[in-house]
Amino acid sequence: MYNAKAYSAASATSSLAPTAIARRDPTEQDVQIEILFCGICHSDLHHVRNEWGNSIYPMVPGHEIIGRVTKVGSAVSKFKPGDPAAVGCLVDSDGTCPECQADLEQFCPNMTLTFNSPDKHLGGVTYGGYSDSVVVDERFVLRVPSKLDLAGAAPLVCAGITTYSPMRRWGVTKGKKVGVVGLGGLGHMAVKFAHAFGAHVVVFTTSEGKKEDGLRLGADEVVVSRNTDEMQKHAGSFDFILDAVSADHDINAYINLLHRDGNLTLVGAPEKPLAVAAFGLLFGRRSLSGSLIGGIAETQEMLDFCGEHGITSDIEVIKIQDINEAYERMLKSDVKYRFVIDMASLKA
Ligand code: NAP
Ligand code: ZN
Repeated sequence: MYNAKAYSAASATSSLAPTAIARRDPTEQDVQIEILFCGICHSDLHHVRNEWGNSIYPMVPGHEIIGRVTKVGSAVSKFKPGDPAAVGCLVDSDGTCPECQADLEQFCPNMTLTFNSPDKHLGGVTYGGYSDSVVVDERFVLRVPSKLDLAGAAPLVCAGITTYSPMRRWGVTKGKKVGVVGLGGLGHMAVKFAHAFGAHVVVFTTSEGKKEDGLRLGADEVVVSRNTDEMQKHAGSFDFILDAVSADHDINAYINLLHRDGNLTLVGAPEKPLAVAAFGLLFGRRSLSGSLIGGIAETQEMLDFCGEHGITSDIEVIKIQDINEAYERMLKSDVKYRFVIDMASLKA
């Protein structure tokens, strides 16, 4: 074991503060990574404030990890010291269940999340990426295309895959009309992917000030969702809508924008249940579904796609000392469009 520097929350009501945590020495299959950047996902905030009711403290959040390999175990074949490497929301799974066999490790009943999951090696719970170092089984470490800026690529391993995966699954391609609800960390990646897949993309935002950005990011139209006339113009017209909103909102307003057999996929995970009106689904045989990040193979596919198409996240790089202020700004939808921690600030 060795000590790593980190930022942790002591309870649902405390700020994040500096701490030291134990990391395991790399085993044969492990890759040790010096963390250079870590994205800030709204899930970090939901977790830190125990909004999903399953938080364990102290908690070190962070699951958009990117850095350089510092050491590898003797059985590691994909990485060598000095390589760039990324780690998303998962660090382990049983590898044998039907979900793992189907490359859907995120649904493995024995999967280990990057933070707040039982730690099979050290006991206690896993600690995430708000830290200067991490040790992860090679199977869960992603290769980063050399063309990509490391800070901008960090959010790809959560915000990126979470939006890429459902759009691939629901056939977002040229000729499809696709909506994205909520222009935050996930939403802005959804716009980039839907545009790259050739779809006609419409952003729905509550923030009037994000109109120009929506178009710049690749949307064909931007609708301010408070404007009911503007919403009504799109009634019954969408093939697919991705809802990436972090808070309570009227999902029925979006279900009604789907045409026959259209699908709305929820990736946002608000604290409280959303009310769904039956008739919005009945008429038009529309469907509502969910999606959770993506498997490791698909995450690598997404990173390679980003490498080919030059896609990264639009980021605001912060020092780790500014993390608590960043959370407050994220709550106000005031981030363009992902905060990324420069981990050099943790070493200072
Ligand atoms: P984020 O950057 O904070 O973006 C959320 C966006 O939702 C905001 O930018 C805002 O967009 C909109 N919004 C916020 N409050 C709203 C309200 N009261 N009414 C309507 N719209 C509102 O968050 P994120 O990191 O993208 O995460 C979004 C959600 O996805 C979170 O709940 C997170 O936990 C979840 N998540 C799920 C997965 C998964 O695997 N399914 C993975 C990662 C994250 P506008 O300003 O454009 O309105
Ligand atoms: Zn996330």
